[in-house]
Amino acid sequence: MSEVSSDVTHPFLDDLPPMDAARFAAVEDRVARLLDTRQDVLITQGEALLPLEGAIRAAAGPGTVALNVITGPYGQTFGNWLRDCGATVHDLAVPFHSAVTAAQVRDAFAAHPEIDFVSLVHAEAATGNTNPVAEIGEAVREQGALFYLDAVASVGAEPVLPDAWGVDLCVIGGQKALGGPAGVSAISVSERAWARMAANPNAPRRSYLSLLDWKERWTDAGRTALPHAPAQLEMLALQACLERIEAQGLGTVTARHASAAAATRAGVLALGGGLEPFVHAAADAAPVATTLRVTSGPDASELVAAALAARPGLPLAAGGGALAREMIRVNHYGPDATPAVVLGALDALGTALAERGHVVDAEGARRAAGEAWN
Ligand SMILES: *Cc1c(COP(=O)(O)O)cnc(C)c1O
Repeated sequence: MSEVSSDVTHPFLDDLPPMDAARFAAVEDRVARLLDTRQDVLITQGEALLPLEGAIRAAAGPGTVALNVITGPYGQTFGNWLRDCGATVHDLAVPFHSAVTAAQVRDAFAAHPEIDFVSLVHAEAATGNTNPVAEIGEAVREQGALFYLDAVASVGAEPVLPDAWGVDLCVIGGQKALGGPAGVSAISVSERAWARMAANPNAPRRSYLSLLDWKERWTDAGRTALPHAPAQLEMLALQACLERIEAQGLGTVTARHASAAAATRAGVLALGGGLEPFVHAAADAAPVATTLRVTSGPDASELVAAALAARPGLPLAAGGGALAREMIRVNHYGPDATPAVVLGALDALGTALAERGHVVDAEGARRAAGEAWN
C-alpha cells in the first residue's frame, strides 16, 4: 500500500486562513454594510436557493395569504414552495418583457385585502428585467405584509436597500454582479420576519433549511461559536469579493453594470439583423444582464453556438426552456461588465447574423455601444 507522504503540501489546501467565528461574523458585518442594513444578516452555507427556500418555509404556513409576483422563472418556484407550505397564493404574473408596477401590486391588495406576504424577484438574470422595489415596498408597507425579496441577480448591479425599502427577508448571492462564489449566500432578516417565523409551528427546526436554528445557536448566542463547520473556501472567497468591492466602491461597480446594459441595448438597436432588446422599456431592463429577442431567421441557440464558436468564453447563452428559440442572454456581470465583453458580444452576434445572410451594421453597433457606455 502506498503511504500518503506528510511532506506533500499544497498551498491551495494547506495555507488557508481558518474560518473561525470572528472571521465569519466579520463577513456577515461586511454584507450588512453592503446592504446598508441594521437587520440581522446570516451567511447561509449553500447556494442562494438555500435561504430562498428556507425563508419561505419558515415564514409561510397554512394561514398565510401570499401575493407572489412572477416576472421570470424564480417567481414560479417561489409560488410552488408557498403552496407546498399550505399558503393561499395569489400569483401576479406579468409578461417577461416588462416589469411589475406598484399600481398592479396595490390592485392585488385591493382585490385580496387579506394578503400578508409578498414575494418578489428584484432583477431576473433569466429574463433581463428589473422591478421597482422601492415603490412596491411602499405599497407593501401600507398593506402591512411581510416582504420577501430575491436580490441575487441585482446585488452589485444596482442598489439593494432592504431597510430603506421595507424588505423583511432579502436574499443575495455572490455569483452574479459581485463576481464572487456561488456556494454561500446571505439573507437579511427583520424583527417582524423573525417574529413571523417564531410563531410558525411549521418553520423548519433542527434542519439544514432552518434559519431559526442559526438565529438561536449563532446570532442570539453572540456569534462566538459556529454551530457547524463553515464552508471555508467559499467563505474566504466571499470575504475576498466583498473586500474587492469595498476597495472599488459599490457605486463604481453598479455604474459599470449600468453602462454594460446601456451599451448592449444601444449596440443591439444599432446592429439590426433581426435582433432587438427583449425587455421593451429601458427602465425595466436589468443592469445585470441584457436579454435579446431574435425576431427572424435562425433560432437563438444556433446564433449563440455560432457566436461562441468564433469567440469562446463570451458570456452568451440562449434563453432557458421555451425561450431557447427566441432569447439570447448577454450575461455582462461581475468581471464581464466591461466594454470589451459588450463589444465582443455585439461583434460575435453580428458576424453570426451576417454569415446567415442578415444585414447588420457592425460599425454602427460599436459606435452606439461606445457612446452609450459613457
Ligand atoms: C441567478 C439567480 C439565482 C441563483 O440561482 P442559480 O440557479 O444558482 O443561478 C436566484 N435568483 C435569481 C433571480 C437569479 O437570477
